[in-house]
Amino acid sequence: MKYNVNKKGYYGEFGGAYIPEMLYPNVEELRQKYLEVMYEDSFQKEFNQLLKDYVGRPSPLYFAKRLSEKYNTKVYLKREDLNHTGAHKVNNTIGQILMAKKLGKNRIIAETGAGQHGVATATVCALMGIKCIVYMGEIDIARQAPNVARMKMLGAEVRPALSGSRTLKDATNEAIRDWINNPVDTHYIIGSAIGPHPYPDMVTRFQSVISEEIKWQLKEKEGRENPDYVVACIGGGSNAAGTYYHFLENEEVGIIAVEAAGKGIDSGESAATSKLGSEGIIHGCKTLLMQTPDGQITEPYSISAGLDYPGVGPMHSHLYKSGRGEFYSVTDDEAMTAGLELSQLEGIIPAIETSHALAIFDHKKFKKDDIVVISLSGRGDKDLDTYIDYFKLK
Ligand SMILES: *Cc1c(COP(=O)(O)O)cnc(C)c1O
Repeated sequence: MKYNVNKKGYYGEFGGAYIPEMLYPNVEELRQKYLEVMYEDSFQKEFNQLLKDYVGRPSPLYFAKRLSEKYNTKVYLKREDLNHTGAHKVNNTIGQILMAKKLGKNRIIAETGAGQHGVATATVCALMGIKCIVYMGEIDIARQAPNVARMKMLGAEVRPALSGSRTLKDATNEAIRDWINNPVDTHYIIGSAIGPHPYPDMVTRFQSVISEEIKWQLKEKEGRENPDYVVACIGGGSNAAGTYYHFLENEEVGIIAVEAAGKGIDSGESAATSKLGSEGIIHGCKTLLMQTPDGQITEPYSISAGLDYPGVGPMHSHLYKSGRGEFYSVTDDEAMTAGLELSQLEGIIPAIETSHALAIFDHKKFKKDDIVVISLSGRGDKDLDTYIDYFKLK
């Protein structure tokens, strides 16, 4: 396996578990047990049942006829926007809440920036009747009031992180501190394909249902399992990892990753990690991240909250470095235009994160017979105010 994780938790030179000594027992317990638990029959049965009846899977693989005509190629959209809670994130939180239960944990912690992962976590905690504490920077709490309200309505406690820049990384620090203090009863649900090993691999496996479904759905529609390209936007990289997973080792399938260039790669306001990043340690793993020459993490920027992250998961750093993946950086303006275009060509309003993936057509020309599958990671309801302001729709 050239592109998947190895036994030590590395994708090429990236990954591993760079954690404080005091966190070692928690992470080690998970590392020793996650694969065994995840592939038990009873786990698989419950996971698949919930994905079906609660999340609404399989999500459709939709042939986008008008979009295909416009770009003179065959475009399929994998409709993660139709999942319960409106995005792919719930695939992972369902998996992790079941993992927590099997490990005998009765308390869940999570950190969130924009609140999407917090909502997905609060949702599954309500589903299972498990106590949920979500750490969130004080600034983010003010900026993301609707998601804070959702979490509270779902019964979660939202604890403000008051230190530092009072945003995502400070919330992460608080969550880690909590986990160190509550090693026995608590599971920490990380929301993307990031974190110390085994998190990137565990999250990827839960999200890999996306590419598992693409294979049989495409076989039904086109008579072949493999598309020519799979395309996804990348924040930390979980929808992308799930979309690529079953195609990683199959090199005829092109892998395309789209990251947020914000106001432009060289504007000082971007999240274009592949272009601007260098190797370092973030969130417990070695990966590419945006940092100053002396190793301080740079404040990222993107119009989409979900892509506003200063690093990418270790799988993606390896896909980039090895050349297996093609990486593109899409600006706010390009993404917003692509989101409007999908709305008007297909009647689907995408999340702004997803709009970045849809802007691939500004950057790459596909052949007429190419089959291009794009991960439609989420729906745009949460972003309506941003679209309204941007396009002056009011
Ligand atoms: C959170 C989010 C993303 C980015 O997260 P990844 O882990 O990179 O997938 C992308 N799209 C949507 C709709 C999101 O909510």
